Order: sequence, then C-alpha cells, then structure tokens
Amino acid sequence: MTSGKYDVIVIGGGHAGCEAAAAAARCGARVGLVTHRLDTIGTLSCNPAIGGIGKGHIVREIDALDGLMAVAADRAGIHFKVLNRRKGPAVHGPRVQVDRSLYRGAIQNLLSAQQGLTLIKGEVDTLRIGTDGRLTGVALVGGTVLGAGAVVLTAGTFLRGMLHTGELSTAGGRMGETAATGLSRQFAELGFPLGRLKTGTPPRIERNSIDWDHLAADWGDACPEPMSVLTGSIDTPQVACRVTATNERTHDVVRASMHLSAIRNGQITSAGPRYCPSIEDKVTRFADRSAHQIFLEPEGLDSSVIYPNGISTSLPIAIQEQLVHTIKGLENARIGQPGYAVEYDFVDPRSLHPTLESKLVGGLFLAGQINGTTGYEEAAGQGILAGINAAGMSGGRSPLSLTRANSYIGVMVDDLTSLGVTEPYRMFTSRSEFRLSLRADNACARLTELAARHGAVTQQRLDSHLCFSQRVREAKRIGHAYVRSPNEWRLQGLDVRDDGRRRSLVEVMAGGAPMAFARRILGVDEKVLCAVANDALYARAVEGQAREAMSIAREHQTAIPAAMFDNLPIALSANARRVLLAHRPRSIGAASRLEGLTPASLGVLAQAVAASAAGF
Ligand code: FAD
Repeated sequence: MTSGKYDVIVIGGGHAGCEAAAAAARCGARVGLVTHRLDTIGTLSCNPAIGGIGKGHIVREIDALDGLMAVAADRAGIHFKVLNRRKGPAVHGPRVQVDRSLYRGAIQNLLSAQQGLTLIKGEVDTLRIGTDGRLTGVALVGGTVLGAGAVVLTAGTFLRGMLHTGELSTAGGRMGETAATGLSRQFAELGFPLGRLKTGTPPRIERNSIDWDHLAADWGDACPEPMSVLTGSIDTPQVACRVTATNERTHDVVRASMHLSAIRNGQITSAGPRYCPSIEDKVTRFADRSAHQIFLEPEGLDSSVIYPNGISTSLPIAIQEQLVHTIKGLENARIGQPGYAVEYDFVDPRSLHPTLESKLVGGLFLAGQINGTTGYEEAAGQGILAGINAAGMSGGRSPLSLTRANSYIGVMVDDLTSLGVTEPYRMFTSRSEFRLSLRADNACARLTELAARHGAVTQQRLDSHLCFSQRVREAKRIGHAYVRSPNEWRLQGLDVRDDGRRRSLVEVMAGGAPMAFARRILGVDEKVLCAVANDALYARAVEGQAREAMSIAREHQTAIPAAMFDNLPIALSANARRVLLAHRPRSIGAASRLEGLTPASLGVLAQAVAASAAGF
C-alpha cells in the first residue's frame, strides 16, 4: 500500500531530523518528516542548553545556512553567556540555556511554518531498496509505504537503544520512548558496519526541594548576545543558575556503590563521551579531586524541574538519592526523574561519503548521533548538510561541500568520514587547524552565499547578509583610508609607537585600539564594528593560514590509490601498516589525521603515492 510520494523523507524529529527536513524543504523539495511522536519534535534529551565552546561555532554555522537552531535558541533563551570571553574572539563560545518547552515549541512552530514540509507520526520499520541498490522509500509499522527519491535517517539513540539504571535495563531510545527495532534489524542484515556507544543523563531535581539560600548565583551576560544574526533583541526574561559541588561524602557514596553502576560493573561495555563523564567516571578518573562543580540549571521559566549539570549517572535510584543528599543545597532534594545511561547502535561513519550519503545504499543519507557523535549541535550540523544534499540529489543539483577550510561542520564531517569514531564525537575548537579564520562571528561571511547557491537560504536571509557585508566592506574602506602619523594618533588620544610610520585605523585596530575610539571615527553599530575589529585582529594570521591551507590542500587532496593498500611501502613500521590497513584513508590529508601515524610514516606514504602517480 503506497500512500505518499516525497522528494525527501526524513526519519526522526530530533535535532538532526528537524534541520534536515527544514533545509530540504527550503531547497524546494517536497519533504515528509516521519517520527515516533509529533509532540516530542525538537526535544532536548539531556541538558537544556545550546552552544558552548566549539558547539557555539556550529550553531552560528547552522544559522548562516539558514537553519533553525539559533533562531529557536534565541526565542527560548533564559541565560546567555559567551564562554572563553577572556581569550581571543576566535575561540569565544556562545552558549544559551533555554526554556525546554519554549525551545521545543519554537522548533515546532518553525517547522509548521515551513512550506513543502509534512509532519507524519509513525515509526519507520524498513527502508525500501530497489534492485539497483538505490533507495525507493520507506515502510512504516502498520504497512504504509512512502516513496522518496532520497531518505535522511536521523534515528539518534533509538537503534537497539537500551536504558540502564542500576541493574535495571529496558529497551528504549530515551526515557518514555520505544527503540526502533525494525530498522536496527535491517541495518544488521544489510551489512552496515555497526558499533555501540553510550551516553547518560543526571537525575532531575524538584525546584522547591532545594535549599537555595547559600548557593552562589551564576548570571548570564548583562547584554545577551543573540545566537542568530536575524534576532534583533532577546525578549525572554533572564534567570540565574546556582552553583554547588560534590564533596568527599558524595564520592564515598559513589565509590561504595560502583559495583551497582551499569556503566562500571560490566553491564555496559561501550565507550561514553570522555568530555562529559558520569559522576562514576569522574570519581574513578580524577580520584585526587575532592570536589566537582555542579550547575543547577532551571529547565524553564515556569518549570518546577532543575537540571543538575555535572552528575550524570546510571546508579540505582536509591543510591542516586543518597549521593544527591550529600551535596550542599540538595540535602532534602527530591528526584523527579532518575538519571540513566543509554546504550545504542551507531553506524561507522567511514561508510559515508563527505555528503553524508551512504556508500552502501544510494540515496540514503545518515545524520546525527547515529553517526557516532554526541550533542544537539553536532547532530543539527550534520542534519542541515544531509538535508541540503538529499534535496540536491532529488533535484539534480550538485552536492554542497563543507570542508575543513570553510567550517567546523566540514571539520566534523571530514573527521567522521575519514577517521571514524572510537568514542562519542564532540566538537572542540582544537579540532580545527584553521580556527583563526573559522570564528563564530564570521560564520555568515563563510557560508551564507555558498548555501544560497544551493538554494538553501531564503531571500530575506540572503538580503540581510548582503546588506551587512556591504556595511562591513564600507567601514573597512574608511578604516584603511584613515591614515595618520604616530603624532597625529597621539593627539587623538591613542598611544602609538613613535617610529614615524603612518598607520591606518584598521592597523591600529589590529594593534588593539579601543573599540570606542574606532567607533568614534567609523560611526558604525556594534556588530559592524566587531566584524571590522576581529578581521583586523586576525588579518595577518589568516593570510598565513590561507597560504598554508592552499599548500596543504594541494598535497592533502592527493588521492591514495586503492591498490597502494595491497602493496604498502616496506619502509613503513608494523604499527603504521596496521593503522593504514584498518582505516584505508582516501587521501594524504585523511592519512595525516590518523592517530598512530607519525610524520615520518606519512612522508614515506606521500613519497610512495607520488612515485606511483609518476609511474615508478
Ligand atoms: P535524537 O534527538 O535522539 O532524535 C532521534 C529521533 O528519531 C527521535 O525523534 C525518534 O523518535 C526518532 N526515530 C528514531 N527511530 C525512528 C524510526 N524508526 N521511525 C521514526 N522515528 C524514529 N549530548 C550531549 O552533548 N551531552 C550530554 O550529556 C548528552 N546526554 C544525553 C543523555 C541521553 C539520555 C540522551 C538520550 C542523549 C544525550 N545526549 C547528550 C545526546 C543528544 O541528546 C543527542 O546527541 C542529540 O539529541 C542527537 O540528536 P539526533 O537528532 O541525532 O537524535
């Protein structure tokens, strides 16, 4: 029974699925978004926050590609803070704590307003694949068949998902939601390379059971900086978090109960997110630490629930209560929902092209946690790329390529598809070799026009971007033309080295001239001024990086012929051979990022590739 035909079907209404569906529809495709429950579309499964260091860059890139996440975060944000503010702008990490239900509502409203997008409640049981190995559609539980030119699968933690609290294990994608069993079975049958990973979440605390009086407040920035360039002002009331910490008594409770923890007693053996460890992991790995900070984050303006950020756990409920009661302010706290760990299947992302299309099944795109990542932002970043490319495939357009040189999303996709994962992958600024040019503040300059050429950007967004770029260009022109001697600068109140050299305003801005001083001369608003100042600050370094990027790109794009792996150079060490044969990198660039391959081994490999290209 066929009951619908779409250009693109997206499976899953999480962060990857919502961005994929909206992006494909913006590109003009007829899109069906199939998900278990319509009311949980846009749900934040874990902490009620968007962005952070590295992750904030991805949110700004999603915004530059005209995605939903930044706009929804601005509508729901109750605590805005730019992290790393004391460091240079290249590593600033915009972060927003959001009202969980306002965020979900904002995403659902944005999707409802998107033309060409139909929301379908249901569970996809199987993918329909033609005799030519290409995807033709999906079959839902209950028998409905939906035809499609391309499918984006964003099943998150739902493939053979198992929830663990102490020794209690139940099947599920997350608390209160069933796992996707049909698809899990089919993926195994089709021979998809599957692995298993885990993640976890802390118990939620009832707000009125916390003793707030002696806990330090943590306020957001006095002037909230919106996530989206389209947001004029933040209208939601802003709230404070409170800060508390674990102590030796907490750690004693955890140590004494370690044998009951699903993630420590052998019940779960898969790897979890190293940089977001459970309290069991923290107590084990950082045994010398006598305290770990906990942020008590309100889940919303009117919510009675508090999210204690920092004590994710899979200990039994009774032990969770004991450990919570050892913490200052939580002595009498009541747990609303216990913490738990979830273990799930992921697909080895090396089985994907850089467009996120599967190498095994043509027309099938995979995005989000199913590819071994963790985090809303990482999922959404992949979703938007997969959605644009799925729509492009059904519309006969060339694929959008996000690279290490133009975006953090490109860094992530390259890392995933060339290196794979051994633990849940999350973004850090240190993953990018070009982080001075990939800044959160210049995401639109890097990506909006590129995405517009793929039809993924609305006219309103493009017009607003072009207008802003024009104002920045004009301000730079004035700044370059405003040239003064050191003496003249000093007369204006600026301390410039007395070397007789005349300098432009842009040059003195690069040297750290105060913003107020530059604003007086340029007469532009804060946003334009920041763009000019940040570009000035990094101009020289970015120029150097661009040269380096070009020479690296030339060398790194050099393909490694498949036959090379049958006959690796004898000069390579046994370890280098093992690593190369395990990963079979497509290019010298991909090989250079493999863990365990030394620069010397890389040199040997590069020489062998060059020799084979020259016919030796
Ligand atoms: P999800 O948000 O999981 O969405 C998947 C969607 O697919 C769901 O809507 C589901 O209903 C739907 N679906 C699945 N299969 C089917 C099917 N067959 N048919 C129809 N619909 C289907 N991230 C962090 O960064 N830090 C953390 O501490 C953290 N802790 C977490 C704790 C828990 C318990 C969970 C569950 C996740 C946690 N995450 C954490 C991860 C974060 O929530 C995910 O990375 C992110 O939500 C993944 O987004 P996604 O779109 O890939 O999948």
